[in-house]
This record gives sequence, C-alpha cells and structure tokens, in this order.
Amino acid sequence: MDQISEVKQKADIVEVIGNYVTLTKAGRNYKGLCPFHSEKTPSFMVSQELQLYKCFGCGQGGDVFAFLQNIEGIDFAQALEQLAEKTGVKLERAQYDPEAGKKKLLFEINHLTAEFYHYLLTRHPSGKNALDYLKNKRKLSGEAVKEFKLGYAPETWDTVYQFLLKKKYDPNDMADAGVIVRKSSGQGYIDKYRGRIMFPFTGMDEKIVGFSGRTVLDRDPKYLNTGETAIFHKSSFIYGLNKAKVAIKQSGAVFVEGPVDVISAYQAGIRNVVATSGTALTAMQLKLIARYTEDAIFCFDSDTAGAAAIQRAIELAEKEDLNVKVVIVPDKYADLDDYIKADPQGAKAAIKNPVPVYDFFVADALKKNNKESALGKKKIMEELGQKFSKVTSSVLLDHYIKLVSKELNLDTETVHGILSGKSKPDADNLSEEKDEIRNEGYTLSKRSPQEYLIALLLKTPLDTAQSILYKLAQKDFTNPVLQEIFTELKEYNLGRKRKFDIKYFSNTLSEENQNSVNELYLWDVEHITEEPRRLEIELETAFARIKRETAKKELKELTDKIKQAELEKNTKLVGELSEKFKNISERLL
Ligand SMILES: [Zn+2]
Repeated sequence: MDQISEVKQKADIVEVIGNYVTLTKAGRNYKGLCPFHSEKTPSFMVSQELQLYKCFGCGQGGDVFAFLQNIEGIDFAQALEQLAEKTGVKLERAQYDPEAGKKKLLFEINHLTAEFYHYLLTRHPSGKNALDYLKNKRKLSGEAVKEFKLGYAPETWDTVYQFLLKKKYDPNDMADAGVIVRKSSGQGYIDKYRGRIMFPFTGMDEKIVGFSGRTVLDRDPKYLNTGETAIFHKSSFIYGLNKAKVAIKQSGAVFVEGPVDVISAYQAGIRNVVATSGTALTAMQLKLIARYTEDAIFCFDSDTAGAAAIQRAIELAEKEDLNVKVVIVPDKYADLDDYIKADPQGAKAAIKNPVPVYDFFVADALKKNNKESALGKKKIMEELGQKFSKVTSSVLLDHYIKLVSKELNLDTETVHGILSGKSKPDADNLSEEKDEIRNEGYTLSKRSPQEYLIALLLKTPLDTAQSILYKLAQKDFTNPVLQEIFTELKEYNLGRKRKFDIKYFSNTLSEENQNSVNELYLWDVEHITEEPRRLEIELETAFARIKRETAKKELKELTDKIKQAELEKNTKLVGELSEKFKNISERLL
C-alpha cells in the first residue's frame, strides 16, 4: 500500500468532516447541512463504509482529501500532509513515478508467488494431493501443469507471507497485489489463498496479473480470484488469451467457463479457447476479442447457470456485432472438460463446428421443460416466441418451425403463429402492472427510475432485491453505465446468500461503475429503505416505470420498422409488426 492509501485508511472521513459539519446518522450513511452551499434541509451525505462524501444539492463530492482541499482551499499535497500529521504517518517523498514503480513491484510479487506455488505443487510434499487430483481426476498432463504454471497454496496461514517477507517485500505491497489479506482483527496479515490449486492469470505480455484459486477442501467460494488491483482489471481480462490469440485469428474465439476447461482443451490440441474468470462475460472482454476475430463461440456448462450465462453472452456479443455460435455439450457430460475427457474426438468436432445460436435456444427450452405435457409445451413456446421474435429470415424461421412442431408434436400453423410473433401462447397477466404504473411515487418525479431503482436495491434486503433483479433484463436499462451496474449487481446478488456488502461489491467494479455505484449508495433513500412497506411500493413503482419505458422504446423501434416495411411494400411484415405494436401498446394503457 502506498502512503496515500495508508493515510486515507487511517483517517476516518466521518471524523474529519465531523470537525466541520454536524453529521447525524441516516441509516447506513451520515447526513448534514452542506458546508459548500447554503441549504435548510440536509443533502450532504457521508458514507463511512465507502469513505466518501457527496452533496446532492451542489454536486460537491469525493474522498477525505477532496473534502479538505475544498473546505480549506488547499492543494492535494497540503491535504495529504495535514492528514498524515494527524494520523501519525511519516511521509517520504517518492523519487520515481509512483504508478509505474508500484506496478512493477506488483508484477514482481505475483511472479515470485506463482513460482513459489508452482514449486509447492510440483516438487514439494505439501502439494502432492493437489497434484494427484489434477493428474488423476482432471487428467491434466505434467506438461500442461507446467505450461500454465499451475500451483498449490498450502493449507497454512502465512506461508506466502513469510516467503515474501524473506524476500524483503513490504506487506502493504503484498496486500495490494492481492496475495495476502489483513486479518479480520485488523492486526497483521494472512495468505489470501489457503488449500487451493492456483491458476495464475497471465496478461498479453506474459506477466502475471493475478490468480484464481480453486479450493481442494470444498470451501466457499469454489474459486477465489484476485480483486481489482493496479495491474488486474477483471472486466477486461480474458484467461488464456495470451496463448490463444493466434488460433483465435484463424478459427474464432471459443469461450468456456473456467481455467480448467481452457487447459483441458489446450491439452487436447484445441487452441482457440479462452475463459472469463470470476466474472460473467463483459462488453469490454468482447471488445478485446473483436480485435482478433468476428466469431464468438460460446460453450458453457449445460446446467441452468450455464444456460443463463450463454443467454447473456449472446446479448452482449450481438451488440458488438460478433457472429454468435454455440457449442452444445451433450447432456450426459457435466461440462466441456468432462466431454473432452470422455470423447476427445467428439468434443473437438463440436468445437470446430459450432451450431447457430437458435439451435441452442431450442435445445435449452426443450431441456428445461417437459415437452410431453401441455403445460411444458406452453412454456417452451413462450420461451421460444421471445427468442425468435428477432428472426427476420423466413428461411430460418421455416426451418425452426418444422423442427419445433416435430419435437413438440404440434401443428405447424400454431408454431408458426408463435415463433413469428403473431399470436401468444397465453394472454399475459398485465392488469397488475398497469395499477403499479399509475401509482407513481413522488420521489420518482425528480429522478430517473433506473437510477432510483438501483439506489434502492443497494439497500434492499437480499431476498426482495433478488426477486426484483430476477425480473429485469439488460434492455431495461438505457444508460450504459447503469446497464453494467445492473448486470454486475444481478450477478452478485443472485449468487449470494448472506448480506449485501457495499464495499465488497463496489470494489469488484471498474472505476467508472464504481464511482456511479458509490454515488447511488450515498443517495438519501433511508427513509424509504428502512420502512419495508414503503420500500415495497417504491420498488414496484420504479420497476413498473422502467418496464413501461422499455415498452415505449420497443414501440418506437417498431414504428421505424413498420415505416421501412411500408416503403418496401412488404404487407406481410407490416401486418406482423402492427400486430406486435398493438400487443405492446395494450400493455401501456
Ligand atoms: Zn452542497
């Protein structure tokens, strides 16, 4: 840790600001009258958890240094000096570019740590069980273990910490690299990874930027990854890209779920395979891939989480104008790794010949529902109706109409109606939503419902938040930053059983998203979030508003399409689109 962070950590923002402003507790935050503009009701918020302040009246905000600079009219160096003195930190003047020096140090620490873990796995008795597991159970060769520099973090408290101390590294730097963590007591450090098989994250320049550690003791989480550091940004990191880039240029990028799948494919001679690690696919990762290829091929596990991940990946990839294809792992295999081990030739062929994304939609819908029952058929058709609503090619549509009617033993007319969006499997229950739309909370009038909903969700009890997040989709958020935050929040919350932790969540985000989330967290919505009934109403209202905006947007797009179809004198299409228009606008009444 550098001295700036050290000072910041030691100086509590609530205490510092408390010297100038009378702060009162407001739920999880503090509030008071803004010292930077004149006001009668407090709109000046301070968060102890995030160590940030923000005035929603005049827009002033920042960390403890920013506050001192602004209130005292001093510059950053002076603010730093003042606080350093108060907190008893002795400042040394840096002789070099602090950022570059820091990064070099983190790379060094990661490199040594990776070498050390690799040694423990391959040559030390403590790594024997882990090595046996990799070789016998995961069927990885010694060569692959070496090539990907896999390692073992022993089940001890501070082996890496002691190792790096002997090499004269500062514990603050080790912690900044993410290989050790501060003890929960606040005193001293322990290794971050214990009892885990280690997968180093290697960047495009072959330097190690971080780690993923898989538990060998069935601990939660199964995979523990490096958080954001000065050299590791998970939303733009792609595991295996350093080795796969040439093959990707030739045959497209195959995305798999985790490091083991990548290594296993590599070992089988399939070299165009990469993985996202510890995060669902992001737009940034796809932008990076788009530099090498136009073809994004997805191969995720065949469980529901895997199917959901594919759905999301498809939406994102279509936005980046990538050609999307899917490798379907047959049901009898748990994942690609399994498939490769059991049937290497079959797996290779499947990866070489990925199927159009619509095959995946059909297979997925059939798998999730019982196609023999009437209700199952209805569900399948509902799902497919949505997926196929974007298909404009009548050849494609015809192909799938025949396929689906055969699978479900349904009349082609019926299937045609639904897949082409002309009829619905069943009338939607929308009257409730209409009531919600009319019931507009006053708070909303001032703020965008998208922002407002996220601000509320950050302080909503987990189960309620989960149920709302579940019902929302990316398309419901028009602002790209909010869209990303929503996606991250959904992912974070849906996989979570314990309490929401703002600091933890915020730290997983990119800088831009982090700033926005922090600001939303500072919104003064406590009078709502602390009152369950009120919260419920506001959540419902914001939710309904957002859905209505989505519907309006869809109508606008349809209007453009109808105009275009009219110009082209395509009466069939005009009819179809008008029908859709009618359906959506009825929802808005
Ligand atoms: Zn202000």
